[in-house]
Amino acid sequence: MAKERKYWDEELETMSLDNLRKLQEKRLQETVSRAYEKTRFYRQKFDDAGVKPQNINTLDDLQKLPLIRSSEDFRKAPIPDRLAVPMEEVKYLESSSGTTGVPMAVLWSGTDWKNLMDAEARARWTLGTRPSDVVHVLTGFPCCQMGYQHLGAMVMAFSAGRGVLDNQIRLGQMVGVSVLEYLPSLVLKYFERATEMGYDIKNGSIRLISALGEGWAEAYKRRVEAEYDVIFRTLYGSVDAGLIGAQCESGKGLHTFLDLVITEIIDPETEEVLSPGQEGELVITLLWPEATPIIRYRTGDVTKILPYEPCSCGRTHPRMSMVRGRAVQITKVKGENILPIDVEEIIAVIPELASDYQIIVDKPGELEVLKVKMEYKPEAKDQKALKRKVEDAFDKDLGVESDVELIPIGTLGREKFKATRVVKTYNEK
Ligand SMILES: [Zn+2]
Repeated sequence: MAKERKYWDEELETMSLDNLRKLQEKRLQETVSRAYEKTRFYRQKFDDAGVKPQNINTLDDLQKLPLIRSSEDFRKAPIPDRLAVPMEEVKYLESSSGTTGVPMAVLWSGTDWKNLMDAEARARWTLGTRPSDVVHVLTGFPCCQMGYQHLGAMVMAFSAGRGVLDNQIRLGQMVGVSVLEYLPSLVLKYFERATEMGYDIKNGSIRLISALGEGWAEAYKRRVEAEYDVIFRTLYGSVDAGLIGAQCESGKGLHTFLDLVITEIIDPETEEVLSPGQEGELVITLLWPEATPIIRYRTGDVTKILPYEPCSCGRTHPRMSMVRGRAVQITKVKGENILPIDVEEIIAVIPELASDYQIIVDKPGELEVLKVKMEYKPEAKDQKALKRKVEDAFDKDLGVESDVELIPIGTLGREKFKATRVVKTYNEK
């Protein structure tokens, strides 16, 4: 019998770090020259910063280039100013979500599309998907679905079931779905509904969850894994960035695809570049798109590059931790970065708490005490004791002093799209 193929692209995935860095530097020079010569947007940016492509030769030189903000610079620039190929070479248009303004157009050439599909497939292979799998992508992103097809798996179309969850569950069970790609917070809803419909998920065909789109509390993941006998793995990417990295079977962090991207972590306030192990905002420079260059692009996502150590899977690419939230959601409490996901970790281990909460920020700058409004379930009779228990947990798990206000379940209400987790109660100038 043929040996099972371990990697999607063995040569690239197990390349020595030295050679990977050389490859990055070569691709960086090409990317920067191309962006300068072919786009008005980057030429202007580089000229303003007083830097020319010939000044960018090594990875250390990257810091000479200006940072790009998606919300201000990039989104506002006219498409022709950002395009490095003639419009007729653009073969696909996607857009990032419009939750924070106008949707931003993302354009790919035919070559970009091929490279993107390869990266999509590689990420899913890293998670553990194989051509023998039956996959259901519930997020509805076409490039995710097509990435699985490129890998060789059977894909259940997003439109199958016409967007009705019950139909999708039924169809999935009929064909024996083994991999489910979904938002982590919705996986539990899917499983609970399937159980109500009489399906035995624990002993059924689903073995792997490819979770994307948001961070999740470790405690939540462990609970779902144990209850339904599935494995949770995550990948990181976005419509504007393509694929950045994916978790392997070791379960520790996500291998970042060094041949496709240069990652940096910055302090979102001071823009200072941070070292491995330090948490901050992820900045990416993509080394593959020809239509729209992406150079020192601030993602707004909070993560860290993990200090380097070889991985048991044999891949040489360094790892980053799971994205913990958005930079705008950081609340600084005595030097600690507190994010909504930290509060969710506490909720996951204290059964008397309901899932809704709000972090209250009542003044600008760093806080001394973390203020949180949290909902409790009706069975919590002694709220004084519960408050003490929650505040102790914040102290023990996060090392911050807290002031917890307990309110009955249902008080905060549900918002239409995404719940507001961090509420500023002072006027911002
Ligand atoms: Zn690994």
